[in-house]
Amino acid sequence: MARAGRLPGETVTIPAAMTIPSRPMNFNPGPAALPRAVLERCRDELLDFGGTGLSVMEHSHRGAAYERAHHATTARLRALLDIPDGHGDAGYDILYVQGGASQQFAVVPLNLLPPGGRASHVVTGAWGERAIAEARAVAATAGGGAPRVVASTVPAPGDERTLRRLPRPGEARSEGGDAYLHLTTNETIDGVQFATAPGATMPDLGPAPVVADMSSDIAWRRVDLRQFGLIYAGAQKNLGPSGVTVVIIRRDLVEAGRSDIPTIFQYRTFARHDSLYNTPPTFAIYLMGLVLEWIEELGGLDAIEARNRAKAGAIYGVIDAFPGFYRCPVESGSRSLMNVTFRLPTPGAEARFLDEAMAHGMTGLQGHRSVGGVRASLYNAVEPAWADALAALMRDHAAKHG
Ligand code: PMP
Repeated sequence: MARAGRLPGETVTIPAAMTIPSRPMNFNPGPAALPRAVLERCRDELLDFGGTGLSVMEHSHRGAAYERAHHATTARLRALLDIPDGHGDAGYDILYVQGGASQQFAVVPLNLLPPGGRASHVVTGAWGERAIAEARAVAATAGGGAPRVVASTVPAPGDERTLRRLPRPGEARSEGGDAYLHLTTNETIDGVQFATAPGATMPDLGPAPVVADMSSDIAWRRVDLRQFGLIYAGAQKNLGPSGVTVVIIRRDLVEAGRSDIPTIFQYRTFARHDSLYNTPPTFAIYLMGLVLEWIEELGGLDAIEARNRAKAGAIYGVIDAFPGFYRCPVESGSRSLMNVTFRLPTPGAEARFLDEAMAHGMTGLQGHRSVGGVRASLYNAVEPAWADALAALMRDHAAKHG
């Protein structure tokens, strides 16, 4: 077939969809905004990746063209996140898996919670509740050990008044003998995030390796990964499109993992084969590489952190300036810089606000269906100008209706 089905000399009409002057301001919680420059580059490369005449999606994952993209993404991730590359407990493997962070809720205990072992969970929101439920299911069916909640800060169902929060110092600690301690660094639905103060590190969580679900705040700033034994994150918020989940795991934990579970669930299978044991989500890994390159060009994680702080600061600033109208259901030291959650006086007032935001070209602001309210997700690719526009709208709206 001819390459573009076009006759010599024929002019090309660009469809209207390709010249959209302004796209909606996208506050979706994930899948979420992607940098426009990345989408444009992806469009340009879609039919002809690297001069091969094929889309990246049409290449074999065993071919040189795809493998170059695969390893480039990994090298970029290692450099950008400063992921140590030593042996044993001084190095981390980067794995690309499928099944989302939800699958990791089960795969972590499958690998790391041996029969007779014990794991501690810290629960600060809805995703942490999912994680412990899956760990319990694994323990019950795969002869795993005993996962237990050492601290939960989730208000009782229907309790609208108790603020959501992080554990207090000393409230959430593993004990000697725990295989690991699991937590969620950013609760996407509840808007609770660990260690957001400038330069803050994670609190003292006890002796066991920390396993962190970082789905919604990986790469929001520079973080010392040595505080963690294992990190997992779906890419579709801060790093790229859906379809790939990144696992960053200390090499001694890869080796210590159970080997009597199916090969495809063992971390060592992915570690030994550079995540090319079976077909990886090639397009998602390629696109993540483009997003990482965009972050580099922006100035790396320090520049990203400054952007992210400014965006969240703009929204929280308005919430706090109109305390009779807007209410954040999260304690001030626990507030997420990625997902800003807030309420208006009534569900009707919230619906009116969401309608007005939509009329101003803002999308994705509806709170999760389980909690309602408003949620502005401010991931890396969300433009500071969009957050400023939302803050301005919130000010106007409060002045008009407050
Ligand atoms: N953990 C967190 C913190 C999340 O935000 C999400 C998705 N919103 C998940 C886990 C589940 O991710 P997935 O849909 O990729 O399984």
